[in-house]
Amino acid sequence: MEFKALKKFIDAEDERLKKHYGNGGDQLKHVLARTIKLTEELGELSGEVLACNFLQRKEKLGRRDENSLAEEFADVIITTLLLAKAMDVDIEKSLAEKMDKVDRRYKNAKSRLKR
Ligand SMILES: [Mg+2]
Repeated sequence: MEFKALKKFIDAEDERLKKHYGNGGDQLKHVLARTIKLTEELGELSGEVLACNFLQRKEKLGRRDENSLAEEFADVIITTLLLAKAMDVDIEKSLAEKMDKVDRRYKNAKSRLKR
């Protein structure tokens, strides 16, 4: 999947959520709702990680299926992208810049070791 397709989905999902929940144009409420949702999804992912390592209660283990972990990773990514959109962050640009920064960090560390 290309980033463009993901971005198109995020734009459509953002519109659907705005229509469904309606925030009356209250930007603060919109951003806070997205932030709380991200926290919820991180909790669900954490629960899946625990379950995969048999560190979850038996009744929770029974409710899982083979796609549960992957779905929670997807939920966290989608919710993060929705929050970035709500905050007017150009996430494609931010990711590219961060990837460059991390690459440079390792290249610099490697060149320091050679000296
Ligand atoms: Mg979830």
